Amino acid sequence: MRQSKFFMPTLKEAPADAVAESHKLMIRGGYIRQVTAGVYAYLPLGYRVLRKAENIIEQEMENINVPEMIMPHLLPATLWQESGRYKKYGAEMFKLNDRHGRESLLGPTHEETFTEIVAKNLKSYKQMPLALYQIQTKFRDENRPRFGLLRGREFVMLDGYSFAATREQLDQQFDDQKSAYFKIFSRAGVTVHPVIADSGTMGGKNSTEFQAPAAIGEDTIATNEKGTYAANLEMAKSIDTFKQDPEDPKELHKVATPGCDSIEKLTKFLDVPATRIVKSILYIADDQKVLVLIRADKQINEVKLGHLLDADEVREANTDDLEKITGSAKGGVGPVNADWADKIVADETVKNLYNVVVGAGETDYQYENANLDRDFKVDEFADLRTANEGEPDPVDHLPLKFTTSIEVGHIFKLGTYYTKTMGADFLDQNGKAQPVIMGSYGIGVTRMLSAAVEQHLTENGVAWPKEIAPFTIHLIQMKMKDEVQTELAEKLEKELSAKYDVLYDDRNERPGVKFNDADLVGAPIRITIGRDAKENIVEVKQPTDEKAEKISVDQLAAYISEKLG
Ligand code: ATP
Ligand code: MG
Repeated sequence: MRQSKFFMPTLKEAPADAVAESHKLMIRGGYIRQVTAGVYAYLPLGYRVLRKAENIIEQEMENINVPEMIMPHLLPATLWQESGRYKKYGAEMFKLNDRHGRESLLGPTHEETFTEIVAKNLKSYKQMPLALYQIQTKFRDENRPRFGLLRGREFVMLDGYSFAATREQLDQQFDDQKSAYFKIFSRAGVTVHPVIADSGTMGGKNSTEFQAPAAIGEDTIATNEKGTYAANLEMAKSIDTFKQDPEDPKELHKVATPGCDSIEKLTKFLDVPATRIVKSILYIADDQKVLVLIRADKQINEVKLGHLLDADEVREANTDDLEKITGSAKGGVGPVNADWADKIVADETVKNLYNVVVGAGETDYQYENANLDRDFKVDEFADLRTANEGEPDPVDHLPLKFTTSIEVGHIFKLGTYYTKTMGADFLDQNGKAQPVIMGSYGIGVTRMLSAAVEQHLTENGVAWPKEIAPFTIHLIQMKMKDEVQTELAEKLEKELSAKYDVLYDDRNERPGVKFNDADLVGAPIRITIGRDAKENIVEVKQPTDEKAEKISVDQLAAYISEKLG
């Protein structure tokens, strides 16, 4: 490809609103342009990278015998009403009406569609195991679209679905997908950790996320140094090592704590450590008023809380709710005589505490010497806290280490969640009707490209992993008016293009401009044709090399195949 004919609008500066390095690089390099918030055009350079990633996926899916197909983007609301997710999915769904007033949506994911079109057509156990996939644009009205392709409102996803007659078949399908995913990420040059994850609104409990460590990551993963434990912080089990020495219960008594609306103020005012205070936080879980208790040095984990309560939505009560329901402002809310609560649940850290401070149920008042069972009751205990860095992991009891990372893929054992609610039965070996057992598998393809950039940044650009680089070889001619250079460049362009993707910079630009652009293109191999062309000598460089190296044209083939492996 001749660069003079290519459309690659590069910029000196990234726009001020670009925070993520990958976002800046893709804008500066002319890979993408924003059309509206979270919606991007893929310019030729960006589209080449996308197509290469899609090709890798297609090959790896072919290798595990999973065929590709394509579902519509435009879906009827009725399909999602059938599964119950039309309401449950929430504000992230793009909804629209057609001219007849029928409700529709733009697909954010396709469990329902595959259940309808595929699972409902599987009538016998003999038709399974089966899996299918598509690579398709998804629409999600994200609350905060940001970081370029990392969180878009329109993005490309690989989504696959598996159908099985037995649990064993599902386990096998899950493992096959998992190993194909490892190959895809490895070929795309993205380092990933598989971690225990939350399954969100997908239904089903068994899920693994592929997390790519990166500075800009929106997720935090908790791992141990041996690699025997890795979980999304949302799900990381917390082992609490704190112990209070047993004490005799003292008399409950109320104290005024004016203006103490935070734990920090309270510990100072009462001169007690946070480990002697129990926080009481009111949550609205669907329609239930749930009071959640936790030792004040810990934080409530809303994902764990959601799982315990089996609620679609859990949210912390706001100031208005608090006044109305408890009659107290934040900080005063407490578990003693909390008859207004439908349920009181507590984190395990609330067990084995003696003579603690709790809210007295009135603004600016606390009880001292409160004791579990004597002064307040708890309906259920669970691990409801967010793990802290350095806590022992639940497997080998090594200190947990936290890393920010990008969720690039997520695979679920859905089980029969959709097929039961939507009615997709098959006849098993004994002629008995059973719901099809499903799995769902996804990679954020466009997000993965940002992750690749984040993991392969160079000082002035990017060093693309070779299999997804927009061009493998960047041929740069220093002086277009020099006929010797032109002759050599055209000869190399012809020879190398037979085997590799070559971008030939034939523009009448200054060398500085050409090299700056080359840093942004990030081809694994850069060949510069300059003054030494008459001696048949060129300069070669990889993006991570500090300096270019002179080699003769005869050595070029060997150099390239050595570097590309
Ligand atoms: P997140 O927690 O980041 O919102 P999710 O749990 O909603 O992700 P899934 O529904 O599991 O994501 O979608 C499968 C994959 O699609 C994710 O692993 C991620 O890589 C990608 N993805 C999800 N949302 C977006 C988005 N807004 N922009 C780009 N990629 C996305
Ligand atoms: Mg999401």
